[in-house]
Amino acid sequence: MSRKDNFQSACRVIVVGAGASGMMAAGRAAEKGARVLLLEKTDGPGKKILISGKSRCNLTNARDLGDFIAMYGPNGRFLHSAFRRFFRDDLLAFLRRYGIETKVERGGRIFPVSDDSADVVGAFRRYVKERLVEFHKGANVTAITLRDGRIGGVMTAKGPIPACAVILATGGATWPATGSTGDGYRMAAAIGHTVTKLRPALVPLVVAEVDRAKSMQGVSLRNVRMTAFRGTAAAIDPAQAPAKDMGRGVDTKKRRSQVIESRMGEMLFTHFGIGGPITLLMSLAVVDALAEGPVSVSIDLKPALGVEALRARLQGDFDRSGKRGFRNLLADLLPRKMIDPFIEMTGIPPERPGHQITAGERERLLWQLKSLRFNIKGPLPLTSAIVTAGGVSLKEIDPRTMGSRLIPGLFFCGEVMDIDADTGGYNLQAAFSTGFVAGESAAAGVQGF
Ligand SMILES: Cc1cc2nc3c(=O)[nH]c(=O)nc-3n(C[C@H](O)[C@H](O)[C@H](O)COP(=O)(O)OP(=O)(O)OC[C@H]3O[C@@H](n4cnc5c(N)ncnc54)[C@H](O)[C@@H]3O)c2cc1C
Repeated sequence: MSRKDNFQSACRVIVVGAGASGMMAAGRAAEKGARVLLLEKTDGPGKKILISGKSRCNLTNARDLGDFIAMYGPNGRFLHSAFRRFFRDDLLAFLRRYGIETKVERGGRIFPVSDDSADVVGAFRRYVKERLVEFHKGANVTAITLRDGRIGGVMTAKGPIPACAVILATGGATWPATGSTGDGYRMAAAIGHTVTKLRPALVPLVVAEVDRAKSMQGVSLRNVRMTAFRGTAAAIDPAQAPAKDMGRGVDTKKRRSQVIESRMGEMLFTHFGIGGPITLLMSLAVVDALAEGPVSVSIDLKPALGVEALRARLQGDFDRSGKRGFRNLLADLLPRKMIDPFIEMTGIPPERPGHQITAGERERLLWQLKSLRFNIKGPLPLTSAIVTAGGVSLKEIDPRTMGSRLIPGLFFCGEVMDIDADTGGYNLQAAFSTGFVAGESAAAGVQGF
């Protein structure tokens, strides 16, 4: 059959979107014997893979299956079946076939040894080419078309294309320059699918005290504990901050306290608020809590010291170096850029010698160090988030096939579904695994035609 005949044949699988999930789905469907057309609206495949993991591509994670699934929150259950069919070891074996060796880093994060995400895109390019997938770039799909209640094909800017099966792999709505502009949500909703509320996940947060954050812009703090609370910063009870991490994937027990999540690690001050790894990890829970009322965060800058130990240390330091001024004493406790903001927040004159600092003033400093607070105004926009939370409702997708429960012949994979996870390689693994299953199922569906 000529390439043209193939293109005109209705009994093909169309994959919409050549990202992580779409390329896997297209290759797998073709491997299983289907004729496959892969449509990508940008000028090339895998643009989001290219920027992922700071262009090093954190492909997956070495954690055990149970811990792995916990990283997706309650919706992780949906992935059990897909992970049984195609999980981490399968992905690594697949990549090895294309010459990509991998390495495990801190937190179980798995990267290509080359530290180059272009190699991963290269592997998928070869996979789809080898399997004779017909690939059209610059092909913008505008709608999914139906015929007699089942899939009829897709509509593109250049006209309709018939198909027996369509796999929607259009990704989320973040970083639109990569092509993921949320089209899939609109197309799925237009044919009757429910799309749950879209929210930014893994996103920096804007604070109300923006001038304070700005004055510390660029300061990156390691080994601090950040706790998010329901309510305003003034109402925070720092005694409620847990000593251990609490949140998705670590400790998910629901408690009565005002605490939303708590994480220890690295954070960053920016010109609008707070960012860095622990802020991103906590951001979705904060975004969801903001829908119900005010949210604030408390940062413990000295989590290794309890209140009593820090009190004793401050007293000892200030007594021993009694002649040094407050500004100089702060230099032993904080990064340079945080000294002026701390002078302002404590109201202690910068030149006041240590031995003249009163117990009350020391207490003010102590609590600024143990509970530096900010009121959260909101997240940066969805377009700046790493992933989109929400998407096509999982209730309407069969987890064994990734098939629509509403429209025969329609399949979903990747971020367009209501699946998102923490950083660590989980989002890409979900895209690859669900792409694999969607590809296989779509191919099985068209064999009968
Ligand atoms: C900065 C950044 C870093 C990240 N780093 C990591 C990481 O290290 N590890 C990790 O696990 N996850 C990471 N992620 C998340 C991960 O990249 C995504 O979750 C994953 O790529 C989703 O795969 P997908 O196939 O669903 O969608 P995408 O990879 O976004 O692909 C969707 C494709 O569909 C195309 N498309 C959209 N609409 C249409 C249309 N109408 N017609 C035709 N084509 C269309 C798009 O152009 C795009 O090519 C990162 C995300 C970002 C933004």
